[in-house]
Amino acid sequence: MGRIRILSDTVANKIAAGEVVERPASVVKELLENSLDAGSNEIRIAVESGGTRLIRIADDGCGMLRDDALLAFERHATSKLSDVKDLLSIATLGFRGEALPSIASVSRLTLETRAEEDSTGTKVEIAGGKLLRCDEAALPRGTIITVRDLFFNVPARKKFLRSEQTELAHIASLVTHYSLAHPQRAFQLHHGATELLSVAPVAGLGERVYQVFGSEAVADLIDLGVQERVLELPPPYQPQVQPEERDNEGRERAFILRGFVSRPQIQKPNRNSIFLFVNGRLIRDKLLIHAISSAYYNLMPASAHPFALLFLDCDCEEVDVNVHPSKTEVRFRHPSFVHDFIRDTIRQVLIERRPASTVPSQYSPQRAADLPYSEFSQRMEEAAFTAPLEIPPDKPEDLPVFTLHREQGPAPRFEFTDAPLRMTPPDTHGALPGVDTTLDQPTMSSFRDLRPLGQIHDSFIIAAGRDGLWIVDQHVAHERILFERVLKERAVGRVEMQRLLMPVVLQLSAAQQIEFARIADELNSTGFEVEPFGNRTIAVKAAPAGIGPADIERVVVEILEVAERELRTVSLDDKRRAIAASIACRAAIKVNMRLDMTKMEWLLTALAATEYPMSCPHGRPVALRYSMRDILKSFHRI
Ligand code: ADP
Ligand code: MG
Repeated sequence: MGRIRILSDTVANKIAAGEVVERPASVVKELLENSLDAGSNEIRIAVESGGTRLIRIADDGCGMLRDDALLAFERHATSKLSDVKDLLSIATLGFRGEALPSIASVSRLTLETRAEEDSTGTKVEIAGGKLLRCDEAALPRGTIITVRDLFFNVPARKKFLRSEQTELAHIASLVTHYSLAHPQRAFQLHHGATELLSVAPVAGLGERVYQVFGSEAVADLIDLGVQERVLELPPPYQPQVQPEERDNEGRERAFILRGFVSRPQIQKPNRNSIFLFVNGRLIRDKLLIHAISSAYYNLMPASAHPFALLFLDCDCEEVDVNVHPSKTEVRFRHPSFVHDFIRDTIRQVLIERRPASTVPSQYSPQRAADLPYSEFSQRMEEAAFTAPLEIPPDKPEDLPVFTLHREQGPAPRFEFTDAPLRMTPPDTHGALPGVDTTLDQPTMSSFRDLRPLGQIHDSFIIAAGRDGLWIVDQHVAHERILFERVLKERAVGRVEMQRLLMPVVLQLSAAQQIEFARIADELNSTGFEVEPFGNRTIAVKAAPAGIGPADIERVVVEILEVAERELRTVSLDDKRRAIAASIACRAAIKVNMRLDMTKMEWLLTALAATEYPMSCPHGRPVALRYSMRDILKSFHRI
């Protein structure tokens, strides 16, 4: 006799239950979907002990005829699908006919149901998959399903359940989100005597969001409205038809996205606040989650996640829902189209709804070539959001260290435009009409009146000036101050230095060794005390004040590299300035560093005392000014 046997239905159902019924919330999900498929207007759910002891769901839907009430517990018994072709166009939430038999095989289940057309209802009792009784009963139209003692006969699975509170949280979240997907229906959820949710029918999603989350939370959300993008499909391939008779009309598939996303300042520690519905079905989908994360890229630290409640509706043929037994995964026919549609739509809405008064910057065209415009404008753009963003740390090694022999260009200016703000690279524009691009004497002197108001993102100082509002990049400002100080001290031969407890020993390449020999004297008069230390090795015993021990090696290496590249061809004066610029950059305070008022005041006063407060030794702007005139103009006062 062969060894292969066909499993009994009871065993098969139990196995299927492992896939469909993972935890109490999955039971609620299946039963809730059935009630929605039955066209119910009111769905009442009661649970006890996190759903393990009891789940009861009562609806006023179409109910089941007596024969169907029994048939519903057969495997693959469904009223929603009859042909394999139907699989391509499933409009209901259920279709596999697996949920009821699976749930009934791992619990004590009672079904009470009456269809409109039947005068009496039916009551069915099943325990661990065995039919106990089936009776006639006087019932209102609709269906009540009671699931007791979930997993009573599968102790292994019961062990994997989390605490009552955790299971309840899953159920509450699930019911809440289905209620959001169906604003026109009423939902109730009770845990024991506690009411967790009770929402009456409302006209639309906005009102339901308000009912569920309250007015405060709604203020943090952005309504996406109804967004549509059409996918053009090539004409169908019609080999038997003559080319001239072919239907050349491409088919169009519309994708509609609705929902709410949080403003970037709302940051959740995990993805549990992302809810995705595809054609009314709650799903988890990596592709869509990735699209959402990409929309927030740069607006939120990578470790944080937004709240999102998204409803994507599309032609049934564009999405395969039959990927997973619990129907929580889908496969899109055109995944990258869907991904980009979602990413772009959210991104666009986030940009449009940013806080209004942002101050754009605009450099004059002649500075475009040597300023890292994109980097800076991006930083300004990020700073416009109030979210605690990571300002990218300064990377001095990426900047042209030696630019001092160039003419210092005019200071950057910026103009005010109405939000939404669009940053355009300056080289596509001429000088801005009405915007003065020369650095005049009054501008220089107005640095002296700057009064710090505070800091944004621990990186930029906001200051009130006689002539308007200023934004000062703290790192760049400090760099300018230190640069001039080092140069001055060097001129009188007294650079402030720090002696190191342990010398920093550096291994040099052959080329660096040669450069070191050439600039050793200069280094030693600029606050360093560096000595040869055996073959191709040097010992740094002292360094200019302010450079942290970890940075000393980098400053020396940077100076040697620049020396190798450029210093050979330039004057002694330029050489000194280049060394001073390297020191200043390393010793300056960084972005993402909180400053108290005294430090901000000190920084602004010291900046005002510099010879050229408008740009750093590398040519980056120190400050942006939003002039009084522009402020008045923007408020329509002039
Ligand atoms: P599926 O939903 O995939 O069809 P189920 O096992 O969940 O499979 O349900 C089997 C059938 O029982 C459904 O197709 C439907 O005809 C019927 N049914 C289940 N729940 C309800 C309900 N609440 N109201 C009316 N009919 C229901
Ligand atoms: Mg179902």
